[in-house]
Amino acid sequence: MRTEASAPIEEAFGPRHCLFVSDVHLEAPGGAAEQQFLRFLRTEAVRAETLYILGDLFESWVGDDDPGHPEVIGALAELSGHGVACFLLQGNRDFLLGESFCARAGCRLLPDPVIAQFGGEPVLLTHGDALCTDDRAYQELRTTVRAPGWQRRFLTLPLATRELLANEARAGSKSHTARSPPRIMDVNPGAVDAVFRATQVRRMIHGHTHRPAIHDALVGGQAVQRIVLGAWYEQGWFLRCQDGLYALCELPR
Ligand code: MN
Repeated sequence: MRTEASAPIEEAFGPRHCLFVSDVHLEAPGGAAEQQFLRFLRTEAVRAETLYILGDLFESWVGDDDPGHPEVIGALAELSGHGVACFLLQGNRDFLLGESFCARAGCRLLPDPVIAQFGGEPVLLTHGDALCTDDRAYQELRTTVRAPGWQRRFLTLPLATRELLANEARAGSKSHTARSPPRIMDVNPGAVDAVFRATQVRRMIHGHTHRPAIHDALVGGQAVQRIVLGAWYEQGWFLRCQDGLYALCELPR
């Protein structure tokens, strides 16, 4: 994982009330996850100052000309209309989310990883897939599809072809995940350690592994914390940071 610190994106203290979600994996319009996420935006998120979406908002996104999810895009735009700043990281499913999507949804696209300030503390935000270094096959694929040349060529294909290829890739990824031991699909402890050491942050927040938890550890004698967000397949998950206190929250469905 690239570990150089990006410029802080908020002023010294940062917002006092932020929410974080990841891996909402929105698929079928009108589905249970979409209904729950829309409700979350219109109830919880609207009362916060800032919403961070740490990747994989969509199960699949093949380019900003994708006509999918107009209601979600509208609800995100409404949120920024209410003065809630909304930041977005790309995930491994929706790594083609771009500036045109962000303009429509009123979001700001951030690099991955990025360091933000919360309660005066620098916190590293990442989707988390780059930390799963034991999954060599996936890391190779990631390098391929994140290359600008590959993306340019892919985006010149007709929308229907891109959707077809994305469906094939998802089927391949599902069978790869099913065949791999669970340890391989989690973050590599050495990769996590290296990020803490290189960036000197004491806290990181990520998703991707679908293993929601708060992990406390020591790195170089310093107390560090890694907060993992949950996926929205069976229920909703979000992280609240209010006045420097973090709480991982469940939304039953
Ligand atoms: Mn992911």
